[in-house]
Amino acid sequence: EYPIKGQCEARWCSTNTCFKGHNMLAPFTPGWQTTEVNPLVIVKSEGSYVYDINEKKYLDTLAGLWCTALGGNEPRLVAAATDQLNKLPFYHSFWNRTTKPSLDLAKELTETFTATKMTKVFFTNSGSEANDTQVKLVWYYNNALGRPKKKKFIARAKAYHGSTWISASLSGLPPLHQNFDLPPPFVLHTDCPHYWRYHLPGETEEDFSTRLANNLENLILKEGPETIAAFIAEPVMGAGGVIPPPATYFEKVQAVVKKYDILFIADEVISAFGRLGTMFGCDKYNIKPDLVSLAKALSSGYMPIGAVMVSPQVTEVVYSQSNKLGNFSHGFTYTGHPVACAVASESIKLYKERNIVEKVKSISPRFQDGLKSFSDSPIVGEIRGTGLILSTEFTDNKSPNEPFPPEWGKFNFLFFISYQISFANINGGIGAYFGGQCEKQGMLVRVAGDTIMMSPPFIISPKELISKYGNALKATEEKVNSFKSQHKK
Ligand code: PMP
Repeated sequence: EYPIKGQCEARWCSTNTCFKGHNMLAPFTPGWQTTEVNPLVIVKSEGSYVYDINEKKYLDTLAGLWCTALGGNEPRLVAAATDQLNKLPFYHSFWNRTTKPSLDLAKELTETFTATKMTKVFFTNSGSEANDTQVKLVWYYNNALGRPKKKKFIARAKAYHGSTWISASLSGLPPLHQNFDLPPPFVLHTDCPHYWRYHLPGETEEDFSTRLANNLENLILKEGPETIAAFIAEPVMGAGGVIPPPATYFEKVQAVVKKYDILFIADEVISAFGRLGTMFGCDKYNIKPDLVSLAKALSSGYMPIGAVMVSPQVTEVVYSQSNKLGNFSHGFTYTGHPVACAVASESIKLYKERNIVEKVKSISPRFQDGLKSFSDSPIVGEIRGTGLILSTEFTDNKSPNEPFPPEWGKFNFLFFISYQISFANINGGIGAYFGGQCEKQGMLVRVAGDTIMMSPPFIISPKELISKYGNALKATEEKVNSFKSQHKK
């Protein structure tokens, strides 16, 4: 777990800046941390950097939570929000009433997405709500078609689709299920397409993809194709460890899904708007979805907004059958929030005006090649990624099956802050140690066990990031070496 016990000392706190035992029930944070470790309190952002309450500057390699694509202080987005706040801070979109910014954004999105034709957009506040909406829309669709049994969803192990009860169920990460009695029986999971970790000896990427597509088909046949409503996938798996698909994967999986009249939902919450070096992940992998989920970079993270894009086929059924079934009775107070929509429209305008896809394409070789040049490190199992998204998995002997013992991340160090001598005793795995080394140097990365993830703003210049990564890696290698000389595994 990260941050880790003892790290509090590494974040200097005075009476004014110590928030241990604060009143927020913190998301994805163990309770003991909120009482024992001072939270990192971020107060300001500037380009690719954020500043904490002690004015320490950090390179933000995760763009907040994979979202601040245009960086921290884009004046055009601030102006879009302020103008709209002055004009109309709120009106809803229920009962055929709505606002101009939501109509404009819906039009813009259907024109921007070209992998398949999309005719309608449903707005939500988040990616989780977008995926919850997908489930209800697909159920409504099958009810409208008189197929009440066609209700099951297939997602993938290690997927992340959100944390509301249905989106958490679609996610394939055990911590999102444990203790919440999830997933319900209508959610099934198929293989995670991580070639390095799961391929059989001698199996090529193409063969691996064929095997996974066969497994998917077998699952569908076992359950009965008449019970399977939709398949959901991120073009590149994000929070599950940044896992780009193996060669021919989407081609083969789409053929299976199509064969059994199963809808394809592309969860583009991380991959949309340039992250992979294409406007959408679907463009990169030739995915032809029926439904698409968006959030995060939709507003460059400046306002909470998500969206579901709907194909003409699904729209037609939902609209033409509404007399029989009644309204599509689903929506949120803040569906199509005018300020969020205005900021999202301005974000899309900026992505196009600044030719963000070409920009990501020009930065990403330096980012990818620079970081992948560390692949030979003896503590690195795999460095993987594409565009401006990447992860590093630490393992021993380059093997996916030899994790480092969690206690190897423990370290003590002496340091000076404001004329005080502090002593930190950091517990945690090698990933946490690496994360601590990054934080010490003024860089924030996402640590999940021994996997480190990055998804920087599109305005990043990779040089500083690569240099800090290299320093943290060297310190982590030394740590592992000293443990190896002291202990037998
Ligand atoms: N889908 C994907 C692919 C995501 O990465 C996330 C968030 N990390 C979500 C859905 C959920 O989005 P939110 O946190 O806005 O609910």
